Amino acid sequence: MKWLEHEPIVFGRQEAELARETVAMLRQSVRDAFVVIPFFAYLMYPHVPWQRGLVWTLCFLAEELWLGRLCARFGREVLPVMETWGRYLEVRDILLASSMAWPTIMWLMLPDQEGPYRMVVLLWLVGAFALACLLLAPCQDLLRGYIVGYWAYPFYRLYHEGGNLYLAILIGCVIYMLVQWEFLQSFHLQLQDTADLSERNESMLASVRALHRDSMAKKTLLEQRQHQLQGALQHMKKLAESDSLTGCYNQRALRERLDRCAEDSLASGRPWALAMLDLDYFKKVNDTFGHQVGDSVLCQTAKLIESRLPDGAILARYGGEEFAVLMPERDGLELLSLMEEIRALLSTSSLDDLPVGRVQTMSVGVAGCLPGEPVRQCLKRADIALYRAKEGGRNRVCLAVDEI
Ligand code: GH3
Ligand code: MG
Ligand code: MG
Repeated sequence: MKWLEHEPIVFGRQEAELARETVAMLRQSVRDAFVVIPFFAYLMYPHVPWQRGLVWTLCFLAEELWLGRLCARFGREVLPVMETWGRYLEVRDILLASSMAWPTIMWLMLPDQEGPYRMVVLLWLVGAFALACLLLAPCQDLLRGYIVGYWAYPFYRLYHEGGNLYLAILIGCVIYMLVQWEFLQSFHLQLQDTADLSERNESMLASVRALHRDSMAKKTLLEQRQHQLQGALQHMKKLAESDSLTGCYNQRALRERLDRCAEDSLASGRPWALAMLDLDYFKKVNDTFGHQVGDSVLCQTAKLIESRLPDGAILARYGGEEFAVLMPERDGLELLSLMEEIRALLSTSSLDDLPVGRVQTMSVGVAGCLPGEPVRQCLKRADIALYRAKEGGRNRVCLAVDEI
């Protein structure tokens, strides 16, 4: 049977409860057997020497006591599922062993007599039936065979030997048989239930496993999609912050960073610096060489400036041919010298698309900003400094007036 093959896997809480109930019924039948079987055995074998009979009885009672004790333990303790199963198997093994062993012992006690020998053969058959019944429990026909086989011989003898005493015993036997029948009947039904339950468990387990596999596959797909989405989001964020022509930050991103820089400066107490840059006579570049060359000059200028900025500083296109450089945690003088360096470099760099000897210059206004100073004010000071650089002849860097 399937449930026997998979017993360690499918034996669950309900099966444990079933085993407990079965053993409780067995306990009842052990109690009956305690009284009935020795008494009945003496009636069936009146010629057995009393010493041998006593040994048989003691062995039988010891076995019944052992079995009874095992059964009683089920009633008293609430055990974990697998332990219940282990104990149930122990009880089952003792039952099977005893059904084979007792006939053999009887045969040993009366080796020369034909009657007991027949009895032994019969009881061995009964034992085989019992074994088959327990291994193939839901086969009810075998259970019937067990009961018929077990009682056929005693009935045959009682019928022939007759007598009131035997009649009384016969009635007792019928009652006992009915009890046994009832026990086996419910035992069978419950085992059938267990088998059904186990089969249902298995199919449920299979569908749960399939569901699990399915959900894992969906989870992986979801993770992949999330990853793609995150990548797309980052890309979009970058696009939203960049200037489409030069690739550097746009004015919106600059404003965000200016606010953040001002907040950090207030928290750390350290200054920061800002530069406004404007390309000189840029309109002429457009007018002379066309807007495409103007675009190219804007891009090259942005790249050149960016290549010279230290970590933490950023370049943003403020609008048109105007740029801004933001340098956190540095004062105006430090940015002034950096911008001077970059201005000098640009004014001596020959850019692609411009004729040889033609250079692009820029004017720069630098403002050092103290913690707590509003961003608008910093921008304004840098702008005024830029205006002064233009006024002073262009291609130069000026520091905001109040810092000179
Ligand atoms: P100044 O030295 O006083 O700054 O002179 P300027 O010619 O640079 O200043 P002006 O404000 O007169 O001219 C700015 C020019 O920049 C006008 C406009 O055509 C050009 N410009 C603004 N944005 C772009 C752009 O995206 N591409 C190109 N090719 N030109 C641009
Ligand atoms: Mg301008
Ligand atoms: Mg200009």
